[in-house]
Amino acid sequence: MIIDGKAEAQKLKEEIKQEVLEKELKLKLVVVIVGDDPASQIYVRNKKLACESVGIQSEIVALESSTTQNVLNETLDKLSSDPSVNGILLQLPLPKHLNEEQALSHINCLKDVDGLTVSNAGKLFLNQTMIAPCTPLGILHLIKSVNPNLQGLNAVVVGRSALVGKPTAQLLLNENCTVTICHSKTKNLKKFTLLADILVVAIGKPKFITGDYIKKDAIVIDVGINRVDGKIVGDVEFESASKIASHITPVPKGVGPMTVAMLLKNLLNLYKLQN
Ligand code: NDP
Repeated sequence: MIIDGKAEAQKLKEEIKQEVLEKELKLKLVVVIVGDDPASQIYVRNKKLACESVGIQSEIVALESSTTQNVLNETLDKLSSDPSVNGILLQLPLPKHLNEEQALSHINCLKDVDGLTVSNAGKLFLNQTMIAPCTPLGILHLIKSVNPNLQGLNAVVVGRSALVGKPTAQLLLNENCTVTICHSKTKNLKKFTLLADILVVAIGKPKFITGDYIKKDAIVIDVGINRVDGKIVGDVEFESASKIASHITPVPKGVGPMTVAMLLKNLLNLYKLQN
């Protein structure tokens, strides 16, 4: 069965829109982008459109690629103390001369809509989650849409980035899964993936995971976004994997739309925490 991320995201956005309308909430997201990376520009535009579609105000602060660390930090400080701003999103990656960790430390954790500050990452680690990163939240939402009780299941996460792999593993651990994290130095990857009731793949390698890596009837979540010959493909080879898995996300229209929906949900949750 294909897990329809686009439909799930639409459902979530409708719920958010209803709440914003009914309670007449005035929410504002500010996206800070440095430089003119074309992929980042598209992502930022999509986030702005998503905000508009649910009645949330959004603003883009575009800084030149030559921006210094000090100017970026000061911009984030100013937004952090601006009472009219409910959420701040720093579009990553930054140009090479800028330090991401340092910049993120200038975002007020109560406005950290991406859940990437040390404070919010720590809360996730301690199972006191306030705001978790959007893609992992979207992944968990999709898994629970087909199996609400994950207790005791074997979950294998391939990839250990701070943005996707690690927080996904932590969310699954908080759901009482038995979690294994694999990465590029893992020996005999297949030995681990074949034990997975839930397999999440976030490595950025087109069609790397084929059907022979997958346990029968596993739930497979493909996070990868890879451009091959002008087409977007995932990290999982859909054709062979979909014959073995019980449920699988497609690429596109799987995890991608959920990431944007979760951004809106995080903003709404932050608003509630701020008030
Ligand atoms: P990173 O490059 O930050 O991390 C990749 C991870 O994969 C690393 O931990 C790396 O291991 C691991 N890895 C690489 N090759 C292998 C291998 N052969 N076997 C096992 N593990 C391997 O990527 P991200 O986590 O940021 O993103 C992963 C993918 O997800 C990308 O395609 C990205 O575009 C996509 N993505 C999609 C989103 C969405 O909304 N759908 C959002 C964010 C990302 P090591 O740590 O040892 O180097």
